Amino acid sequence: MRILLVEDEEAIADFIERGLRAEGYAVTVANDGETGTTLATSGDFDLLILDLMLPGRSGIEILRDFRKLDAATPVILLTARSEVEDRVTGLDAGASDYIPKPFAFEELAARVRAQLRRPDQPEGSKIGWGSIEMDLLKRTVERDGTELHLSAREFDLLAYLIRHGGQVLSREQLLSGVWGYDYDPGTNVVGVYIAYLRKKLALEGREDPIETLRSVGYRLKEV
Ligand code: CA
Repeated sequence: MRILLVEDEEAIADFIERGLRAEGYAVTVANDGETGTTLATSGDFDLLILDLMLPGRSGIEILRDFRKLDAATPVILLTARSEVEDRVTGLDAGASDYIPKPFAFEELAARVRAQLRRPDQPEGSKIGWGSIEMDLLKRTVERDGTELHLSAREFDLLAYLIRHGGQVLSREQLLSGVWGYDYDPGTNVVGVYIAYLRKKLALEGREDPIETLRSVGYRLKEV
């Protein structure tokens, strides 16, 4: 599980980073809003922890940009101020949870665990398509025996494509099946994640397995 932490106060960033690493998470730290935005929108993380007051861009601005692309990945806000207004603004902008500073590390760790908890998967469930193999229990993906590192959303998208291998899937079907939307959020989140997935599935000498059918949808090819 990969976590992005955007926090400008070095002592706090260091304290959180060390704690989370000790819990077994891979942690990337950004110290300003610009770097934080670039990393957050890369699609590489399973959870974001954002401080609100940052140089460059605020945590709320990062959150708003991120939510245009990804409605589901959990985001926890660190709020230095105790005003109710900040929390409401954060939750309205799509935060999953917030934690007021100062906090005990254990409290943050418990909130991270709660956000990352996933529904149980059937045991030993393996699915595959062409050169791609996925273990839904271990949440691992291989192509031609090479392990690929996918974010939680990319993983769910690929699993959905494999379960419907060979079928043409519309953007609406993917929004509903992978993101759980029953309405069109009016963003290009599907296209963005298809692009992420293509990049991760790219192997030298191997064809792109995702076929785009203009204004119709996507289909997985057996390559
Ligand atoms: Ca700060």
